[in-house]
Amino acid sequence: MTGPRSGGGTATLVPPGTRRRAIVVGAGIAGLACAHRLATLARERRVPVDIALLESSSRTGGVIATERADGFLVEGGPDCFISEKPWALDLCRRLGLEPELIGTNPDCRRAFVLRRGRVLPIPEGFQLMAPARLTPFLASPVISPLGKLRLACDLVLPRGAGRRGGGDESLASFVLRRFGREALEGLAQPLVAGIYTAEPEQLSLRATMPRFLEMEREHRSIILALLRARRKAGAAQRSGVSGARYSLFMTLRDGLQTLVSTLESLLPPGALRLGAPVASIAPTGTDGLLVVTTASGERLPADDVVLALPAPAAAPLLRDADPRLADLLASIPYGTSITVSLGYRRADIPHPLDGFGIVIPRSEKRALIACSFSSVKFAGRAPAGTVLLRAFASGRSAGAEGAAADPGRIEALAREDLKHILGITAAPILARTCIWPRAMAQYGVGHLDVVSGIEERLALFPGLALAGNGLNGVGIPDCIRSGERAAEAIARRWVVS
Ligand SMILES: Cc1cc2nc3c(=O)[nH]c(=O)nc-3n(C[C@H](O)[C@H](O)[C@H](O)COP(=O)(O)OP(=O)(O)OC[C@H]3O[C@@H](n4cnc5c(N)ncnc54)[C@H](O)[C@@H]3O)c2cc1C
Repeated sequence: MTGPRSGGGTATLVPPGTRRRAIVVGAGIAGLACAHRLATLARERRVPVDIALLESSSRTGGVIATERADGFLVEGGPDCFISEKPWALDLCRRLGLEPELIGTNPDCRRAFVLRRGRVLPIPEGFQLMAPARLTPFLASPVISPLGKLRLACDLVLPRGAGRRGGGDESLASFVLRRFGREALEGLAQPLVAGIYTAEPEQLSLRATMPRFLEMEREHRSIILALLRARRKAGAAQRSGVSGARYSLFMTLRDGLQTLVSTLESLLPPGALRLGAPVASIAPTGTDGLLVVTTASGERLPADDVVLALPAPAAAPLLRDADPRLADLLASIPYGTSITVSLGYRRADIPHPLDGFGIVIPRSEKRALIACSFSSVKFAGRAPAGTVLLRAFASGRSAGAEGAAADPGRIEALAREDLKHILGITAAPILARTCIWPRAMAQYGVGHLDVVSGIEERLALFPGLALAGNGLNGVGIPDCIRSGERAAEAIARRWVVS
């Protein structure tokens, strides 16, 4: 989040009775979390605030879309969040949703990768680009003996080995210089694509996975850093210092929609306006207010405005007020994400499905980039005797950017791939394809410079903030944090100097 700034000086509360007006644009998870935090802070601090949450579509949740159909629980968008980043978990707890939280099935905590048409287990303890456990990695057929030797060079390579220049670098460049091409093509590329719907050549290491850069800085070798971290976590657990209570991936019993509907139900009465697309935001010039203009021409003045939108949706709203800011936002690349959820009778799937899913390297030349075994991963996703698979493609992998996105064709591509990968020839008993055009931010090399540029421009508009997945993290926890931070920054402006 990049938030409104409060002035310096001695702070006193806004004089009693002064009503503030805050408008949040976009009722995805970032906008909902923002409006909820704002309402909570206003109540706690007894500051009268009129909150409006303006959403262009007819529903809240944005890309979070849970559907119950024929006993299946289908997540059309995201299906879980990570517990390592605490903001989603914390929000669930504050909302009283802790009893609804579920982790992954403890019996099958592994995933597969496709290699030359064969479904192979990813070596236990492998973390995106490097092993945190040596024995399973050395025994795995996923990487050839030569590839393993090249990967092990990380143990002796100096810091920054093979690096050109001191600036940002792509994820692919980092993996190549520390671990070699086979590690990139066979494991890092499909694992990263499954998270970001983007290729590692396109992604900034600093903006997406800075922890690997820190590992190189602190420990020189990434493998050594991972081994040390694992040893430390094991020792902490044995001594009872940190009981790992949550699995890495968490969701809610009835789907992520529960989080959305709970937040919606707690909004102040009348705050939510559906079917209210915003067309522009502009400062009024003299009184420090901002004016939000809806597509129907309504003009709404506000002290504070949060744009909780994907960057390409936020850019045109700011074009008149600040073309440079609009250009910077528009320059953040976004990709199309596609999920194809398929329900089958268990007996129709020859594969044992003894894991959470499979990632598919681009070298396999498939339309799918991954497939979760959803009903194995989380309980309650499919009726007895059936399974739910959730195939994942990018607009590019499925040849479906923009107008070419035909759900029927994409479902056929997914079924064709699953026939080759898992041997499924039967027709599904349930099928849902969800296409999310330009929904997933792809932080390119130099992304953090773009973020700094955006922050500089935003400093010209006190009261204006951005939240959502465009700047500081694409996952649900990051988006929640961005919305909550925007709300907290607004609350800091409830003081006058
Ligand atoms: C298919 C898919 C799978 C994913 N899987 C995961 C996962 O498993 N775990 C995870 O952590 N993350 C996942 N992500 C990422 C994460 O879900 C998103 O980054 C996050 O939910 C985005 O939330 P948001 O509120 O920022 O934006 P959005 O959800 O895009 O919400 C923005 C809202 O703004 C509205 N809007 C747009 N323009 C206007 C306008 N002019 N005026 C008013 N309203 C407007 C839209 O209608 C929408 O409701 C996934 C994303 C996708 C697409």
